[in-house]
Amino acid sequence: MLEVRNYIRGEWLTLREGREVEVRNPANLDEILGKGRLASARHAANAIEAAEQALEGWARTPAPKRGEIVERAGDILKAEMDDVARLLTQEEGKTFTDAKGEVYRAYNVLNYTAGQSRRVGGVTIPSELPRNFAYTMRHPLGVVALITPWNFPIAIPAWKIAPALVAGNTVVFKPSSTTPLTAARLVEIFERAGIPAGVLNLLVGSSSDVGDLLMHDRRIRGISFTGSSENGTAIYTTCASRGIKAQCEMGGKNPVVVLEDADLDLAADGIVSGAFGSTGQRCTATSRAILQASIADEVVQKMTERVSKWKVGNGLDPEVQMGPLVSESQMKTVEHYVETGKKEGARVVTGGGRPPGVPRGYYVQPTIFDGVKPEFRIAREEIFGPVLSVIRAGDYDEALRYANASEYGLTSSIYTNDAGKIFDFCERIETGMVHVNSPTVGGEAQIPFGGVKSSGVGEREQGPTVLDFYTDVKVVYVDYTGAARTSKFY
Ligand code: NAD
Repeated sequence: MLEVRNYIRGEWLTLREGREVEVRNPANLDEILGKGRLASARHAANAIEAAEQALEGWARTPAPKRGEIVERAGDILKAEMDDVARLLTQEEGKTFTDAKGEVYRAYNVLNYTAGQSRRVGGVTIPSELPRNFAYTMRHPLGVVALITPWNFPIAIPAWKIAPALVAGNTVVFKPSSTTPLTAARLVEIFERAGIPAGVLNLLVGSSSDVGDLLMHDRRIRGISFTGSSENGTAIYTTCASRGIKAQCEMGGKNPVVVLEDADLDLAADGIVSGAFGSTGQRCTATSRAILQASIADEVVQKMTERVSKWKVGNGLDPEVQMGPLVSESQMKTVEHYVETGKKEGARVVTGGGRPPGVPRGYYVQPTIFDGVKPEFRIAREEIFGPVLSVIRAGDYDEALRYANASEYGLTSSIYTNDAGKIFDFCERIETGMVHVNSPTVGGEAQIPFGGVKSSGVGEREQGPTVLDFYTDVKVVYVDYTGAARTSKFY
């Protein structure tokens, strides 16, 4: 059994007091994976102090040297991929294939961001004054707090920690206490890669004591958060009131539009994998299928045929396509929404209950609702589980209207072979990411990731501008005239 640990000032701490926490495999509740205690506000204060003390040395380390450590961490992660993926499956529940995909994504992010360490530069800009030279420099923000959810417990921390470090910040990392073991594994890899003491600190604690202190401590100069829209909005508001930078990636209610000229098999495959892959616990999961009415019955039938063949169970079983939900509260939320959908008048086409013959765990069946109206709660609220709402639309314009009738705007997809509609959709859909003839899910290290509306606020993560959030711009003016200025305008 593993220990739930915190890492402060280069030391792994075994806490003697504080709230006890126990990590069980959501696929088999009889399997206890780890135990330990949660960090308190006092530990959070220690971690911030350690990060502050390490800041000057780290910020002055040449960026390519910082990048080397991040690159080395990526290499270790890649070499230990199967082992890390197994732990991830056991702790979070997603299938081993999905877990390996996530670990590989984390490796890509570390590798790509390490390369960015050779590009932490500014620009030279011609001045309007004679014999004057202006340029910009990028500086780290200082100590930053990175707050992450449980659903991508390796990839999301990696895509925050890597740019924060490459940019020269020191870090207090607060993962979800639902997945503390995978988080610790990543930090341990950074330790083995040579991260100096205090530069990266791990706090496994509740949002009320640890999270609250991170929000309000004046030494924290930036917060990158991924999680629910409700919490992200509150965090963004607090950061704004303190005048510090915040980047919040939040929830989604991602639509797929299928038009009558589309390849319907391709669409059914894409919707099913987008909706039920990783048990629907992806911010980019497909949760609304908006089907042109003329082909809706056929697509629903094709999706149902595919889903009914899926095996639900322990993600380490190679025959299983869908694992459990991560926790009892997630399972109850999903069950609540299934009941809500029925009461609202939607029809369960497949699923809707617990799968037969599974171990003691947080399982639900992949569930498709047909006859969903855009105003139903199951069409508007993020469920974050394997529940798909099918909405019918008369034509493309109506489908686009329904797709945009959401407070969220993370990602979307359209299935059609009509080039005009594809370009129109990409222009008018209100989401930060759009997929054409492919599922709503996925992302790549070198491509920006993030949403609009209630799905995201602040600078984009990943991609070529990945360091923007983690740095401040300083402007330097060099006057080499040697003479005092005479113009009253300057
Ligand atoms: P959550 O908001 O409950 O928690 C996320 C993290 O924030 C946790 O570590 C939690 O302890 C911490 N936290 C919550 N309130 C806080 C506060 N007031 N102060 C400080 N810390 C606080 O989210 P979750 O249930 O862990 O994750 C699921 C949610 O994450 C879903 O809504 C999903 O859509 C979203 N998500 C978004 C993206 C994205 O990139 N847009 C990616 C993955 C998950």
